[in-house]
Amino acid sequence: MQRLLLVDDEPVSLRFLSKALAGVGETAEARDGAEAVTLFRQALDQGRPFAAVVMDIMMPGVDGIEAVRRIRALEAAAGAEPCRVLMLSCLDDAEHQMDSQYGAGADGYLTKPVDLATLRRALANLDLPANLLDAEE
Ligand SMILES: [Mg+2]
Repeated sequence: MQRLLLVDDEPVSLRFLSKALAGVGETAEARDGAEAVTLFRQALDQGRPFAAVVMDIMMPGVDGIEAVRRIRALEAAAGAEPCRVLMLSCLDDAEHQMDSQYGAGADGYLTKPVDLATLRRALANLDLPANLLDAEE
């Protein structure tokens, strides 16, 4: 089963993501950007990389945009295939979307609150490996 990394500082939001995506892949959770980068590095080191990361933007300490920059740098250093990154934000503004997608290297962007159907549609649009989405059924 493919692995998903879910990152959000709000417990309610993290629980929603975890429940929503439990059938899609094997999920791991992080509560801030620093923890996300640590888990991502460990997964790469163990040869069990995450296929996708769902990343909140607004978090204390290392925010989502910085965490994605670091994740992309880790992948580049390891010569790893880039994972798919879906950003989540409560800020419906173009600047964050630009920063996420063109600056940090995210593949998609959703504005909170996100419902289940929208989340799954966004994941489908990320063109994830087929077996990841097959697991949804
Ligand atoms: Mg947040």
